[in-house]
Amino acid sequence: ETLLEIKDLNVEVEGKYILKGLNLTIKKGEIHAIMGPNGGGKSTLCNSIMGNPKYRVTGGQILFEGQDITNLKVNERAKKGIFLSFQYPEEIPGITVDNFIRTSVNVMTGQNVPMLQFAKAMKNTLELLDMNSEYRNRYLNVGFSGGEKKKTEILQMAFLKPKLVMLDEIDSGLDIDALKVVAEAVKKLKTEEMSILIVTHYNRILDYLEPDVISVLMEGKIVKSGDRNLAKILEEKGYDFVRNGV
Ligand code: ADP
Ligand code: MG
Ligand code: MG
Repeated sequence: ETLLEIKDLNVEVEGKYILKGLNLTIKKGEIHAIMGPNGGGKSTLCNSIMGNPKYRVTGGQILFEGQDITNLKVNERAKKGIFLSFQYPEEIPGITVDNFIRTSVNVMTGQNVPMLQFAKAMKNTLELLDMNSEYRNRYLNVGFSGGEKKKTEILQMAFLKPKLVMLDEIDSGLDIDALKVVAEAVKKLKTEEMSILIVTHYNRILDYLEPDVISVLMEGKIVKSGDRNLAKILEEKGYDFVRNGV
């Protein structure tokens, strides 16, 4: 069953044409990795799926659960269950992690999550992420290390339970231990109903997540898709391997 279908997508950013006829399908429950050289348009793709207004769709369609969402606003897409890491301001002094996440959950569900239930879930999730329980009382991202910021994003994902989770280079800048914790937490938090689009340059996180499909995005298009083996071949041979049309 298809969750996301992108048809012939063309996207422009600040007068530059970045995505040029991109096609992509993500099934329900699938883990789909996107790899490709820097500047190819991977982050542009994620932002376009999320509906970031800086990224202007000049052609094509984005369908989510069969519905055309190409013209929906970010918050409308979020309500449908689309989540992109890095969608929030870097630092929010005055708002604690706890408050931020509880408010997000309340906005998303349209209900107030009971305090006790929330506190219990928060405790368990922080443990899962190998984070000290005091994190919930810290101001969002203020003075957080790169790894702590990324873990906070996974924390959001854990509570919002999106249908489509997009993780854009969640593994870059993480040390080996933090990477393992983050990858294993994502794997544990992933449900059958959840699909994951993960952008990465590295095989290490893919070894943990075992994606169903790997696609290569180059020069604004998906140029090749394959299984886990494709990532291994890319690591060995580089992107010229697909650039040269093998
Ligand atoms: P990738 O994530 O694959 O490295 P990006 O999607 O970040 O690629 O970038 C693709 C191209 O679009 C690059 O040339 C980049 O400079 C440009 N670009 C992306 N986002 C913006 C932006 N917000 N403003 C201006 N140019 C952008
Ligand atoms: Mg990049
Ligand atoms: Mg990028």
